[in-house]
Amino acid sequence: MNENTPRGLRWTIRGLSVLLLFLFIWLEGFIVGDIDRMEGPSARAFTEATVEPETRERAQSLQVSISSLEREIARLEELKANRIETRDSANATLNQFKSQYQFAIERNEQPSEALTAALDKAQASFLEASSAFEEANQRIAELQEQIHLARVEAAIAERALQGEQARGDSEYRKAYAAHRFKVAAFKMLVVVPLFLGAAFLTARRKGSMFGPIHRALLVATFWWVGVVMFEHFPKEYFKYIAIGAATLIVLAFLVRSLRNAAKPQDEVLLRRRREAYQAGRCPECAYPIPQETGQPMACASCGSDLFEQCGSCDAVRHALLPNCRSCGTATQRWRGTESTPSLAPNS
Ligand SMILES: [Zn+2]
Ligand SMILES: [Zn+2]
Repeated sequence: MNENTPRGLRWTIRGLSVLLLFLFIWLEGFIVGDIDRMEGPSARAFTEATVEPETRERAQSLQVSISSLEREIARLEELKANRIETRDSANATLNQFKSQYQFAIERNEQPSEALTAALDKAQASFLEASSAFEEANQRIAELQEQIHLARVEAAIAERALQGEQARGDSEYRKAYAAHRFKVAAFKMLVVVPLFLGAAFLTARRKGSMFGPIHRALLVATFWWVGVVMFEHFPKEYFKYIAIGAATLIVLAFLVRSLRNAAKPQDEVLLRRRREAYQAGRCPECAYPIPQETGQPMACASCGSDLFEQCGSCDAVRHALLPNCRSCGTATQRWRGTESTPSLAPNS
């Protein structure tokens, strides 16, 4: 693409280059995404490996016995409430018979057999109800003691379990960090060589007609190097890397612009060369050239080649003009000392 390319075609090439850039970014995104999905360590496996089965079983069985004790206590509390009722009603019956008995005694009557028997029976059932109530109460007290001990043991077992789980967690975190490092390394192994390849291609094939393709590839691969670094490098390092890379890019552009500014434009140079040959003076140092003899000739003052043998037709040609006057072959050597060969575009 140069100044002679039609405007429409130039814009088409630019548009397609931008489209190509996005396609390259998209494509590389798939590769990077696939690496990202690499299977990492499982947190569950680590917990299972570090927690002893006995520890877990002990904590669980203590919980089970605590809840069965709780149920048992609740049942006994209900029973106790029933027995209180039974005892109270036995007490009421007993008191009733007692007052009837008292009444008979006060009236100097012999209490009837039946009343005596009923009183004895009421006394017995009151005693029985009382002792049943006491028994339930006793049992509840025992169970409460048991549940207290079980809770203390459960707390100890729970702490042991948590300790083992924490060990598993910290091992898992270490394994996860190692996994992320591996993922980052794999990604860098993909994105960095791609970027370097694109950079090499762009630098080597400078001026090639495929330049826009190389540049799209370069930008896409550079983008992914940046994204991977941003994702995986600690933020405090990334900021230095990002600023460093930006500085390098700006420097590269600046150096190129400075070199272009220092290099005389071909047109200007060509005009100077032509005028010097016409005037019979050395184009490099303006020393007068003797009459041309059809033989290779150098400047007596500065040593520049003025006429030399053509590489194509062996005739003698102007060394500091672009084309051979016999066969028309163009060379890059005509720029002479004003242009270093490394800066001349490859063709
Ligand atoms: Zn000279
Ligand atoms: Zn020639």
